[in-house]
Amino acid sequence: MNIALWLDRTAAVMGARPALMHGTRVVADYATFARRAAGLAAALAARGVAPGDRVGVFAKNLPDYLTCLFGIWRAGAAAVPVNAKLHTKEAAWILADAGAVLCFVSAELAPETDLPCVPLASTEFDALCATDPADAVAREAGDLAWLFYTSGTTGKPKGVQITHAMLAATSLCYPVDVDPVTEADAALYAAPMSHGAGLYALIHVRMGAAHLVPASGGFDAEEVLDLSAAQGSASMFMAPTMVRRLTDAARASGGRGEGIRTIVYGGGPMYRADIEEAVGWFGPKFVQIYGQGECPMAITALSRAEVADRTHPRWAERLASVGRAQSLVEVAIGDATGRPLPPGETGEIMVRGAPVMPGYWRNPEATAKTLKDGWLMTGDVGRLDAEGYLSLADRSKDVIISGGTNIYPREVEEVLLTHPAVHEVSVVGRPSPEWGEEVVAFVVAAPGARIDPAALDAHCLAQMARFKRPKDYVPVPDLPRNNYGKVLKTELRDRLRRDTP
Ligand code: AMP
Repeated sequence: MNIALWLDRTAAVMGARPALMHGTRVVADYATFARRAAGLAAALAARGVAPGDRVGVFAKNLPDYLTCLFGIWRAGAAAVPVNAKLHTKEAAWILADAGAVLCFVSAELAPETDLPCVPLASTEFDALCATDPADAVAREAGDLAWLFYTSGTTGKPKGVQITHAMLAATSLCYPVDVDPVTEADAALYAAPMSHGAGLYALIHVRMGAAHLVPASGGFDAEEVLDLSAAQGSASMFMAPTMVRRLTDAARASGGRGEGIRTIVYGGGPMYRADIEEAVGWFGPKFVQIYGQGECPMAITALSRAEVADRTHPRWAERLASVGRAQSLVEVAIGDATGRPLPPGETGEIMVRGAPVMPGYWRNPEATAKTLKDGWLMTGDVGRLDAEGYLSLADRSKDVIISGGTNIYPREVEEVLLTHPAVHEVSVVGRPSPEWGEEVVAFVVAAPGARIDPAALDAHCLAQMARFKRPKDYVPVPDLPRNNYGKVLKTELRDRLRRDTP
């Protein structure tokens, strides 16, 4: 089934409901949204875009981002959403790798490419949407719908093939495992629509909810708080750093997140102190998910109650986990050869099920390394408990092996973050002739504080095994991050290698 049909079905019975909003302004009801997407699909076909072709979207968040996605799918083509924060050269590399035939762009973005580009929010785009519509092109479950480029914290990004069936699977997990959706709700796009936030649009279309795109097109904590208050029942996806900024902004203004129904957080480690503070301030509005492009948004979830219920005897343990398997996947822990291990053992997290990718785009070597015996090897290290709660230790390549013992940087980071002088921290391994690797912490001081290695050392010694504590503390003004806000540990390791005589 072509996933674009979800829009037609909603429009058929809820045509007058507000669909696309820019700030507080309704720019299209469902009937208009569906008609424009269908017109765009016909215009693409008229321009020679054939079923299976790839069409880029290099744009900041805009209401017509969704018109593009549904128009592309309806034409039987696959969308290639490119993060608007990427350099124009990086965007051009992705579009070339995907073999895109056309690209939609927002006004200020122009990939360095010869591809035909169509600006969104333009008379040209509106003219395309006004084309006489045709029926949706039929699609099989395994046909490509979305080429999702990984964030590439190491090496060049890879194109994850997301099929129509995967989109349906990950969308249907949302109301079951994350949060129910009705037409009274609104999806607020605080995070880039080229990533998980955009995937969450589908279930909200299916259920007839509104789509609220902040006028700034980016993440501004005050704007998100104001828009939610004006709209009501708003749900959104946020990376952990965004949750931190939202909490700080709300504390400053005294607001308690009025109008926010749910904040789904994930995409990177959420530190205990941050989520406890966020729930303490906003109340039970948070659900955690763990996923990766290769199984988008759909590996595990930690429910609203599990995040918020402090009275549960194992609340703290669960809060430190990423929850339990979502409905359509099996999650297992494997040893070095990929053989499943019993509960309690630490190893590589493996996943199989309907939302898992069939492979990377035109990259059989990377696919063979990642899909083994039907399992997706996530590259994340973790442990399952007897009840099925999954705890994430680290990316396997980030684990530090010192004196033959594994040290999980996240554990050390969690301890250091409880020290009042520490604002942010990232722990990596430095080559050591004596130990193989030794632990080094890059530390961003809290405002007005100073990094005192002796004090941090004492703090670590009081809370964890001696061998895990950093041998060095490197003060830094900030941590290097990629465009999705993930800390680039590779850069920190390179820096240590360069600085080590
Ligand atoms: P991406 O494919 O760019 O979305 O990155 C996925 C990676 O982000 C995963 O493999 C994990 O390493 C990390 N990640 C995703 N969700 C979580 C989470 N809830 N907690 C910790 N790390 C996460």
